[in-house]
Amino acid sequence: MRSSMAWFGYHGQLAPGPHMPADVPQSQLTRGPGAPERLTQAQTLLIDADDTLWENNVYFEQAIADFVSFLNHQHMTRGEVREVLYGVERQTILERGYGLHSFAHSLVKTFEHLSVEPVTPELHQTIWKFAHRISETPIELIAGVPETLQYLQQRHHLILVTKGNFTEQTGKIERSGLKEYFAAVEIVPEKNAAAYKSVVGKYELAHATTWMVGNSPKSDINAALAAGINAVFVPHDLTWVLEHETIATAPDGLKLLHVERFGDLREYF
Ligand SMILES: [Mg+2]
Repeated sequence: MRSSMAWFGYHGQLAPGPHMPADVPQSQLTRGPGAPERLTQAQTLLIDADDTLWENNVYFEQAIADFVSFLNHQHMTRGEVREVLYGVERQTILERGYGLHSFAHSLVKTFEHLSVEPVTPELHQTIWKFAHRISETPIELIAGVPETLQYLQQRHHLILVTKGNFTEQTGKIERSGLKEYFAAVEIVPEKNAAAYKSVVGKYELAHATTWMVGNSPKSDINAALAAGINAVFVPHDLTWVLEHETIATAPDGLKLLHVERFGDLREYF
């Protein structure tokens, strides 16, 4: 529904809720200039994968919930245990990057911090399994994704841009069956402004006709805008806490589009 989308900001009726990170300032929830017609010129769409094309964080949430139950802390609430884990994860990512091994390491570290029990080899293996079960989960595509990619690739240039462990991300892309829609795939260790500038340089992309599409305010939207390209925010109600950030206002000359779901891209591109 076209009226549910907005260019250059958010629709006035959207309130923080399942589809909106709580840290989006209300001042940005105003509709910008009127929505233009569908873009006729070919654009380059850089498209995020995890929680944009397929479900991802829901499996980590389940693993964390199982881990917190297993830890069964006597004094801390589940929320407090999660906060400790998030702090450990931030540090682990700096040291080891993203991915399942990194996540498993964070769970073990958190257990070491919070449990009076020593981490025996048996306990280590049990905790490791909470994380590594995720790799056995089949890829679950988000509704509307294949048909929307099918439509978009006929009109525009699509490049998949994902961050994380190279082997894990490559495996998910292969299993997703979506690779054929993309002219190229970029797997980067971190999605920051420098990474986007590097992709723009590598493919000699024009800033004005290049967009980053994704669910993460931090990695997909703010980093892309900081690199001087346009962005499309496709929120996901289970976006990883470490990706939450207040969405920046698009700098002059750049466009920030907010759609409710991936399939809505067809109305604009
Ligand atoms: Mg994502």
